[in-house]
Amino acid sequence: MNNFAYVKAGSLAEAIKALSTKGAWLHAGGTDLLGCARNEILPVEKVVSITSLKQLKGIAAQPDGSIKIGALTSPAEIAASKAVAAKYAALAQAAAAVGTPQIREQGTIGGNVCQRPRCWYFRNSDIQCLKKGGTMCYAVTGENQYHAIFGGGPCFFVHPSDIAVALTALQAQISIAGPTGNKAVKIENFFISPKKNVAKENMLLPGEIVTDIRIPPVSGTTKSSFRKIAARGSWDSALVSVAVALEIETDGARSVRIALGGVGPYPWRVEAAEKMIVGKKLDSTVAAAAAEAAVSGAMPLRDNAYKLDMIRGAIEESLMAFI
Ligand SMILES: Cc1cc2nc3c(=O)[nH]c(=O)nc-3n(C[C@H](O)[C@H](O)[C@H](O)COP(=O)(O)OP(=O)(O)OC[C@H]3O[C@@H](n4cnc5c(N)ncnc54)[C@H](O)[C@@H]3O)c2cc1C
Repeated sequence: MNNFAYVKAGSLAEAIKALSTKGAWLHAGGTDLLGCARNEILPVEKVVSITSLKQLKGIAAQPDGSIKIGALTSPAEIAASKAVAAKYAALAQAAAAVGTPQIREQGTIGGNVCQRPRCWYFRNSDIQCLKKGGTMCYAVTGENQYHAIFGGGPCFFVHPSDIAVALTALQAQISIAGPTGNKAVKIENFFISPKKNVAKENMLLPGEIVTDIRIPPVSGTTKSSFRKIAARGSWDSALVSVAVALEIETDGARSVRIALGGVGPYPWRVEAAEKMIVGKKLDSTVAAAAAEAAVSGAMPLRDNAYKLDMIRGAIEESLMAFI
């Protein structure tokens, strides 16, 4: 592991300044960053810790009915929060599905959303894949059972965050502070395609920090859920996950958002499936039609077409559980 400088920022401004130099990386819980540094898959020259910035911690209900979650809030705190569970069940369930108890305690929501891909070619320090400046994505012809079936190319990693999938269904907004000031972006605009920039997964610029995540208010008739299919019960990334947020009245579904995890370079919204549901009374026929629509447009690689049935099953199960 290379030596690096360590800065413990005493303020947001100090962190932004320290992060604005080349080779500087933000350290929140460190559960992902330090693994990447140890395996020398990132050029880490300086680690900037923001852990002492208390204003980035905690969950707070806002006067307009939305909720604000500080970037340093742990998945464990989110999973245990009554305020989150009451209105945003999908988020509570996704936070509870993250890794192990230790990861859920030590990690943070900001780090979870910004964590680097788990692609085994990217994580292998002996392999110079496309994402690390090489010339090819080895998943194209290699071991691609865990790779993208939507939105892939030229690189086929899948986004590893469970929490981001729930946040996408719940229309979250990401607050960012940086050298040029503060801004807020919809979560769908936060992530970027490998077609746009193969080296990055989100739109953060040097020195920019996620400060909090806000989720808009939901109506009393909105229900949400998160389901994850993984090879092992814990400590495992999603093969497929599904988050659904559904506003449902007695006469039918008013609105729905469905996001998939484990299948694309960012939480993958399946609008074709959503269209099958809106305005209809939810039953097994509608759920099956939505599940089928969700996989239209998928482009599996040699070894990952099994994800199609997982998507169908997880969507049907999620929708039928709301009836
Ligand atoms: C064994 C294991 C199992 C796991 N299983 C799962 C799982 O099942 N589901 C899942 O979703 N995740 C899983 N993870 C990933 C884990 O959830 C993340 O490592 C963790 O949430 C990252 O949070 P952190 O605060 O430790 O981030 P750090 O390691 O501190 O940072 C991660 C990355 O995000 C950047 N970053 C962190 N915070 C910010 C911020 N506020 N603004 C801008 N950039 C930031 C860092 O610079 C770094 O690049 C697993 C990890 C491990 C090691």
